[in-house]
Amino acid sequence: MPNVPAASAFQVRVSEVSKVLVSACLLGNPVRYDGKSKLLHHARLSRLVEQDRVIGFCPEVAGGLPIPRDAAEIRGGDGAAVIDGHARVETRNGCDVTAFFVAGARQALALCRLHDIGVAILTESSPSCGSSQVYDGEFARSPVPGSGVTSALLRRHGVAVFNQHQIDTALSHPAFCKRC
Ligand code: SF4
Repeated sequence: MPNVPAASAFQVRVSEVSKVLVSACLLGNPVRYDGKSKLLHHARLSRLVEQDRVIGFCPEVAGGLPIPRDAAEIRGGDGAAVIDGHARVETRNGCDVTAFFVAGARQALALCRLHDIGVAILTESSPSCGSSQVYDGEFARSPVPGSGVTSALLRRHGVAVFNQHQIDTALSHPAFCKRC
């Protein structure tokens, strides 16, 4: 007789498989400020979706903002500065939407903790999801180095954050691969 593990042991192993947090817009959900998605085609990520190992999340919608919504940018710094209270997120009309962005970031962190997620793949340049650059707050689509609010909060709490051009690197990260 082959050595077949008991069903309970199998279930434990399945539940211990790691998951990855991904920006909902990259998964084809029309949650962007303009009501569109930013669907990403990536074979390995698609397989992970089929295996129920991808948690899609939009921090701006989760934080309470509608679809569509006014575009927003960070003024006075990047997402880390927002978390520290040194910068704000504003719409083009000067409406302060910082609280929505911080609320969404906190929910993203709670989700990572709930699912023991150590790696996130988020949309570059977004004031929430940008991980290496954001726009400078002048609404001229001028990028500056820095993180969005959610990326900054996740990193501060140990989650490794990558953008949509770094998927293979993200999925090779020890925080994901330890339970591949
Ligand atoms: Fe996509 Fe992030 Fe913007 Fe939501 S907040 S639309 S997930 S980039």
